[in-house]
Amino acid sequence: MKAMVLNAPKTPLVWTEMADREPGPGQIRVKVLACGVCRTDLHVYDGELPDPKSPIIPGHEIVGRIDALGVGVTDLRLGERVGIPWLGHTCGVCPYCKAQRENLCDAPLFTGYTRDGGFATATVADARFAFPLVEKKGGGEAGDDASLAPLLCAGLIGWRSLKIAGEGKKIGLYGFGAAGHIVAQVAKWQGREVFAFTRPGDTGTQDFARSLGVAWAGGSDEAAPELLDAAIIYATVGALVPTALKAVRKGGRVVCAGIHMSDIPSFPYRILWEERSLLSVANLTREDGLEFLSQVPKMGIKVKTTTYPLQKANEALADLRAGKFDGAAVLVP
Ligand SMILES: [Zn+2]
Ligand SMILES: [Zn+2]
Repeated sequence: MKAMVLNAPKTPLVWTEMADREPGPGQIRVKVLACGVCRTDLHVYDGELPDPKSPIIPGHEIVGRIDALGVGVTDLRLGERVGIPWLGHTCGVCPYCKAQRENLCDAPLFTGYTRDGGFATATVADARFAFPLVEKKGGGEAGDDASLAPLLCAGLIGWRSLKIAGEGKKIGLYGFGAAGHIVAQVAKWQGREVFAFTRPGDTGTQDFARSLGVAWAGGSDEAAPELLDAAIIYATVGALVPTALKAVRKGGRVVCAGIHMSDIPSFPYRILWEERSLLSVANLTREDGLEFLSQVPKMGIKVKTTTYPLQKANEALADLRAGKFDGAAVLVP
């Protein structure tokens, strides 16, 4: 197999040939068909997350086809197309796992961070954490590989963040990249109104948001035309926390959906007062994944992708950092 390997933080990923790996008990090996590039990959690249595997093959939005089954894998079959997400393994015995909060497991493994991921031609995964991908009635596969890949993190953690934002009708999204553009469509499908906040002056992304039917789009330095029921922050900018708190009504929620953020500046208590809440979202549960992916065919989501050959992973990461494309970047081996 071949992979783009991160040997040390902040150094370019290196195209590396390595021996094929055999799946262990309970594992599957997949031939990678597509792997999305997520903001979290930049945090891994920058060394901003504690205790990574090193060297590491990044990538946790994997669409692949099973080409080897480990001992004991009975509910997946050879040739089946699956999605492999960020949550790669949980212990099953800690208080969080036992309380159906496996996203907070005390001893987890994360794909592309603490176990090797999908910036490769093949990968090995824990079969229990792979999702069978939507099939049409009659057995055919629906959805192309590159468009499905971003659903595995941007979509799925977006789904979790939307659930945690509550039932309010008016939802603000700060950051309108891979997650924002998917969640905007999901929220609209649910009958909500979406207010999209982009980097100040990024009129291109604001136009893109309007093309997806949001009620309003503007810069994060602008005020929404009305008070919001909830806001979700996908951008990694801590200064947006007080901004979003000011944008929500009494009793409203602000959800921080990123794994890493710059420091949050101090803010007057008054903007949290009146039972506003500030929460974060961590990881996903398999239940989130199954729930979201089972509804995707009904939602009519159009995922905007920019594809790169696997060997151009460094370019894809740089373009993501620079905000060079709307939607999501996807690597294709
Ligand atoms: Zn656990
Ligand atoms: Zn991600």
